[in-house]
Amino acid sequence: MDAEQLRENAHKMVDFIADYYKNIESFPVLSQVEPGYLQKLLPDSAPVQPESLQAVLQEVETKILPGVTHWQSPNYFAYFPSNGSIAGFLGEMLSAGINMVGFSWITSPAATELEMIVLDWLANLLKLPNDFLSKGPGGGAIQGTASEALLVVLLASRDKILREIGKDALGKLVVYGSDQTHSSLQKACQIAGIHPENLRLLRTRSCNEYALSPESLADAISHDIASGLIPFFLCATVGTTSSTAVDPLLALGKITKRYRIWFHVDAAYAGSACICPEYRHHLNGIEEADSFNMNCHKWFLTNFDCSALWIKDRNTLIQSLSTNPEYLKNKASQGGTVVDYKDWQIPLGRRFRSLKLWMVLRLYGVQNLQSYIRNHIKLAQQFEDLVAQDTRFEIVATRTFSLVCFRLLPANKNEEYANKLNRDLLDAVNSSGQIFISHTVYAFPFRNIKISLFLDILLLMEHT
Ligand code: PLP
Repeated sequence: MDAEQLRENAHKMVDFIADYYKNIESFPVLSQVEPGYLQKLLPDSAPVQPESLQAVLQEVETKILPGVTHWQSPNYFAYFPSNGSIAGFLGEMLSAGINMVGFSWITSPAATELEMIVLDWLANLLKLPNDFLSKGPGGGAIQGTASEALLVVLLASRDKILREIGKDALGKLVVYGSDQTHSSLQKACQIAGIHPENLRLLRTRSCNEYALSPESLADAISHDIASGLIPFFLCATVGTTSSTAVDPLLALGKITKRYRIWFHVDAAYAGSACICPEYRHHLNGIEEADSFNMNCHKWFLTNFDCSALWIKDRNTLIQSLSTNPEYLKNKASQGGTVVDYKDWQIPLGRRFRSLKLWMVLRLYGVQNLQSYIRNHIKLAQQFEDLVAQDTRFEIVATRTFSLVCFRLLPANKNEEYANKLNRDLLDAVNSSGQIFISHTVYAFPFRNIKISLFLDILLLMEHT
């Protein structure tokens, strides 16, 4: 790479991106293109001769950006926040610039060591138990996504129990979650070879605010044991995807301890809020967990992808995922004094992702990060108040963090009509391109489904 060419082109690229941010509100936030639109606009084969950056950027503007949904737009309120920031962006830039592949300590000692330090910092901010820190038998690792984090701990816990009771028992292993647990649990079970009928997604109820009830977990476990099955894994959630419900960790953890079940806590979105003392109680009981995950790329101003996973016993992961081919052997690894993150994840190669998290922590500082979270929650409260005052709408789930779930009330009590009304509203809002919101459906016993529009209150990154 020619350094001067990089300087010239990277300046142009930064200008392009800065202008994109300046004008981001002029785009329809949800892309309005039809499927296959790009095929019609781009040639069938790659250019034989090089083209100029200017020509490419021009096509980005005219052909690519129309097909982009603008996740960083202040008018984006769908799913969960995926807030990048200037600090996160700079960290990504640096990581792209250094472009190392840090699978073992030796392949870039700073990458491994910075990751351990930054995840210890974050664990301390969240007041995670010391068992999750890298000084003892545990530690943290950055995964690409919460789905990967869940998969690797499911594999580790599966192999741990199969070592104890024999591989033939795979078909008897049972996994527990709730009907609000993210679908990544189902996917992880599929990959891990868990029998499809042995995934228990226990029913939650609106009267319990869609949290997993310890009684229903205990009943399901007893029933499974009586049927000759082997309960081995629970995924609880702090901040569920549909309504940000918080499962009662302490009570659930006591049950998992009694039955020696691996306890994973998925706080992909809401974990970030727990750096504020007033929201930390949502993690009460985390000391019972074997593993814990939070997506810094959701609500922690770290550009995608950066999913922080902590585990109490890193050896379980390593025993499941390590390989040791000749070509990767080196003195440091053989000496056993270093962490080789290749053994904590599915792929071999890994990026220098800790740089961006380090940048976020250093350039903003904890106080600003706390204010950012508090501000989002305050805005959500204000929005919730406005909806509550408007008799055309109702709030359909308790707001705990920055997610407000609401729906248009039908003129009559017909739920089918209500669903259609809300689907039509959702389509009308999103096709306007002015804001983008997403939806969920809650199933009620004895009642038809309800559709809830949901809206996450975001702030522009400049407000940090
Ligand atoms: N867990 C929860 C609670 C989520 O809300 C989500 C996504 O929104 C996930 C897991 C999956 O996240 P990822 O895309 O990082 O796998």
